[in-house]
Amino acid sequence: LMQLSIPLNFIGFVYREIRQAITDIEQMFDLLDVAPEVTDRPGAKPLKVTQGHVRFDNVVFAYETDRPILKGVTFDIPAGRTVAVVGPSGAGKSTISRLLFRFYDVREGAILIDGQDVRDVTQESLRAAIGMVPQDTVLFNDTIAYNIRYGRPDASQEDVRRAAELAQIADFIESLPQGYDTVVGERGLKLSGGEKQRVAIARTILKAPPILILDEATSALDTHTEQEIQAALDQVSRGRTTLVIAHRLSTVIGADEIIVLRDGRIAERGTHGALLAAGGLYADMWNRQREATEAEERLRRAREQD
Ligand code: ATP
Repeated sequence: LMQLSIPLNFIGFVYREIRQAITDIEQMFDLLDVAPEVTDRPGAKPLKVTQGHVRFDNVVFAYETDRPILKGVTFDIPAGRTVAVVGPSGAGKSTISRLLFRFYDVREGAILIDGQDVRDVTQESLRAAIGMVPQDTVLFNDTIAYNIRYGRPDASQEDVRRAAELAQIADFIESLPQGYDTVVGERGLKLSGGEKQRVAIARTILKAPPILILDEATSALDTHTEQEIQAALDQVSRGRTTLVIAHRLSTVIGADEIIVLRDGRIAERGTHGALLAAGGLYADMWNRQREATEAEERLRRAREQD
């Protein structure tokens, strides 16, 4: 029996590793729409993040040649600051985050991190420097602890707990009968969108990358969940260069700069207050969204009273 159990253990180990690798790749492709066409240049060097300054310098990009998505976009995210990108659906907001990750190469212009063109550095070092909180997190069919620790596999139990606390998900986890050992994912406990996102935030807090991309959820969350997530996001982005991809506008209020994309160009830019005062595209989007949110809240309250 001993002789049999060792190979079985080993097969279990191999199976787990392969399954994990497949999940990783699937997750990357699913979430980030990756075309596996970008490769390291010969002699590519590891990215050296000294400050964490990000620059998009006259970036032109198209997925298909005859359909330009970005037509010359220039902006800076100074080290440690937060820039939010907003704009109508399909304007190219998520495309900006895919380009920063270098899942695609720009057609013209350049993307620089501390002066280094992302095309000149190794992809491994680039992706290690950037943390992503996606709008839809796919969790591994494993424990919550495993899912959080994935951000830094050598993290201690205490580190995992601390990250969960900062991400505003610790109380929820501790209320489960099996706590951090609860199996989640498709074959385990199904978490809500907001819970999954907070697990992803805890994971990113552990990874502690110098540069962060927050892809804000498209789906409407109730006000309470949204506040909890906002608090978690504030924790994770503190002191990090942060790019917020805002499909809704709730996370952009505190951004150092808001960039409004329209038809592949920057139509407006400024702080929340300045853009509201300007009464342009952003102010329109803001007012429309506020009306929609208020209507949703009224509906929810009406339903709760039934
Ligand atoms: P939303 O707020 O609705 O998520 P977005 O501003 O993030 O929109 P992107 O996802 O950046 O928009 O997409 C910009 C445009 O590029 C869209 O018209 C989309 O159809 C197109 N697009 C996105 N991914 C691809 C792809 N892999 N191949 C071809 N076109 C794509």
